[in-house]
Amino acid sequence: MLAVRDRDAVAKGSSNRSELALVESKPASIPLSRPNILESDIDRVCEVLRSGQLVQGKYVGLLEDHVSQLTGVSHTKAVSSGTAALHLALLALDIGPGDEVIVPAFSFVASANAVELVGATPVFVDIDTRTFNIDASKIESAISPRTRAIMVVHEFGLICDIDGIVELASRKGIDVIEDAACAIGATSDGKQAGSFGRIGCFSLHPRKILTAGEGGLVVTNDEALARRVDSLRNHGIEEKNGRKIFAGPGFNYRLSDFQAALVYAQTQRLAANLSYRASLAVTYESMIQRDGVSVPTTPFGKEHAWQTYHVLLEDAMDRADVGAFMQARGVQTGTGAQCIPAQPFYKAKYQLNIARKFPNALRAYKQGLVLPLAETMSYEDVTYVATQLNEYPEEGAPSIDKRASS
Ligand SMILES: *Cc1c(COP(=O)(O)O)cnc(C)c1O
Repeated sequence: MLAVRDRDAVAKGSSNRSELALVESKPASIPLSRPNILESDIDRVCEVLRSGQLVQGKYVGLLEDHVSQLTGVSHTKAVSSGTAALHLALLALDIGPGDEVIVPAFSFVASANAVELVGATPVFVDIDTRTFNIDASKIESAISPRTRAIMVVHEFGLICDIDGIVELASRKGIDVIEDAACAIGATSDGKQAGSFGRIGCFSLHPRKILTAGEGGLVVTNDEALARRVDSLRNHGIEEKNGRKIFAGPGFNYRLSDFQAALVYAQTQRLAANLSYRASLAVTYESMIQRDGVSVPTTPFGKEHAWQTYHVLLEDAMDRADVGAFMQARGVQTGTGAQCIPAQPFYKAKYQLNIARKFPNALRAYKQGLVLPLAETMSYEDVTYVATQLNEYPEEGAPSIDKRASS
């Protein structure tokens, strides 16, 4: 039996029931996700707005210290997006033209875009459809003398097969960059996402576990790398002999202080958020019983952050038809990530034999289905979604108007 927990417990630490008003109005339909912004979070943002110190105030520093503590990493730098975090991680490692970076073939396209944007070449490796993460056994044969780093992605909030990858990278003298955009708080053998590689990146987009509206975080134990990220996010400014100088060209990739205040407020209940998400995922796992639908597996020793609940439909099932059927019953569904080498830019540039090289990424891209999962959902919502999926007819639902789902 599941311990059915009240949604109020998610807002642990908050005794003011009016703060829960935003989560208690039941939506007419169940959206894929929805950020859980409490009145107390809004108060913190207003505090910054009223202070007049909109950038480089106290919250960026508070957030960075908190994330360092949470991940067990010595330096955190807040930036303007997860993509900015990846961009700066690559630049700080001096990765550029002529270099190759291993990237999973199935991820959000930003993972590979960041590699392209520094002038390096992404080398794609297929995934394992049980976890949707990079297939670690296929990495070594993709490494060449030009390979500088393996960019792993902890897809949907599950840490990949990281120990073997870190060992391989150190044997080959290359770096591991963690695209942990979806995985803040996820662990493998108790160790936090972002703390395994040379440098780790998180996203604070509204679809992620913590949100600033837009934002990102870079974490590293390497002080020199942290200093480079710090400078690159802020116009190339460095401190020399107590004076600020423009040491080189940099970006403005800073996070504003009111965004940091919004995230900082959410970090205070991150643990409760993660455990509630895990219990929603357990509910899905026990409730989904439709032949042809496989639920994701979590390998032993890993704690999934459940940023996304992503199931895989057998090839005989028409995903668009399933989506339209769910939409007609008030449930929004979506697609999880892209088979990146199949996207127009990558397809034209690299002309890879996708079906032969990345069959699993292609299958996840074509047959993966995201079900709603959010801190704002109740157990009843999850049960409702699972029941609708179970009721998807054996012969499909071709009578549903497909236009309704787009
Ligand atoms: C969301 C995401 C990103 C990009 O983050 P933004 O904050 O939207 O720039 C990068 N990689 C992965 C795997 C993501 O899921």
